[in-house]
Amino acid sequence: MLTGMQIAVIGGDARQLEIIRKLTELDAKLSLVGFEQLDHAFTGAIKEKMEEVDFTAIDSIILPVPGTSLDGQIETIFSNEKVFITKEILSKTPAHCTIYSGITNSYLNEITKQANRRLVQLFERDDVAIYNSIPTVEGTIMMAIQHTDFTIHGSTVVILGLGRVGMSVARTFHAMGAKVAVGARKSEHIARITEMGLTAFHLDDISNIVTDVDICINTIPYLVVSASVISKMPVHTLIIDLASKPGGTDFRYAEKRGIKALLAPGLPGIVAPKTAGQILANVLSQLLGEFLLNRKEKEV
Ligand code: NAP
Repeated sequence: MLTGMQIAVIGGDARQLEIIRKLTELDAKLSLVGFEQLDHAFTGAIKEKMEEVDFTAIDSIILPVPGTSLDGQIETIFSNEKVFITKEILSKTPAHCTIYSGITNSYLNEITKQANRRLVQLFERDDVAIYNSIPTVEGTIMMAIQHTDFTIHGSTVVILGLGRVGMSVARTFHAMGAKVAVGARKSEHIARITEMGLTAFHLDDISNIVTDVDICINTIPYLVVSASVISKMPVHTLIIDLASKPGGTDFRYAEKRGIKALLAPGLPGIVAPKTAGQILANVLSQLLGEFLLNRKEKEV
């Protein structure tokens, strides 16, 4: 239970509703900023404007998955008001106040550092990334179906990277009957790909592998699908780039060659916002519970 905790949930999309639901069930007191257009009311949560929140009593601040923009604005899907977070606001909170977001940027890093508050990036955690790979794969399948006129079954699929997303994508496309080749640079990844019964190749050999690819799925956040790689692909190839913006594909060259290349960020929030919210809600309730326990132990 989170009885006695005061949490400010500032901005966000449908994923945040699952977090609010879970934390109110656990008896935390919530200040919701940027939710005035939300019809639903949650017991234990009050909708407030930023200037109405008593930040001196806030134990934790929960930001949306993207954190803030580079000028401190927070995305608010359920509000027309512009909401900003600043170093001055964070400085009002108690020293133990922790800020949670999905990812961070230079602005958020800087204000939390200047205010001397702890920032937790939930998407850096292995558990969150692995759970999130499930809706990511489902979104990738949806895109592959929408943008091709052939079945995944029997098609040649090249996957780049064997991280948390690459592993799930590779396993699922293989299970769907695709001929899957996975590219990596580490020998242990090459070994794992082979153990999974898939074709393994070193990323240095990518140009030789893509000559008969139907679907190329990139999970590496660096330019790996370069112009020279794209020049070797058949023109019917579909490139789905899952890596964080700006992706790892030379989109300009793909367009010039007439190859369809799609950057597909944020698939969990698009295809399964409820599940994506539950993933975050479960991890957050665990982290906040541990935090509360630590604080109580220190008080004894
Ligand atoms: P991850 O576990 O860190 O895996 C990244 C993979 O890229 C690893 O195989 C890594 O190999 C490889 N890699 C990184 N830098 C490389 C380089 N310079 N050269 C060659 N290989 C390199 O990350 P993840 O959780 O799988 O996520 C992958 C990407 O997808 C991230 O950009 C993430 O933000 C994004 N993502 C997108 C969605 C979506 O909806 N589109 C959803 C979730 C995640 P090494 O081990 O050799 O470094």
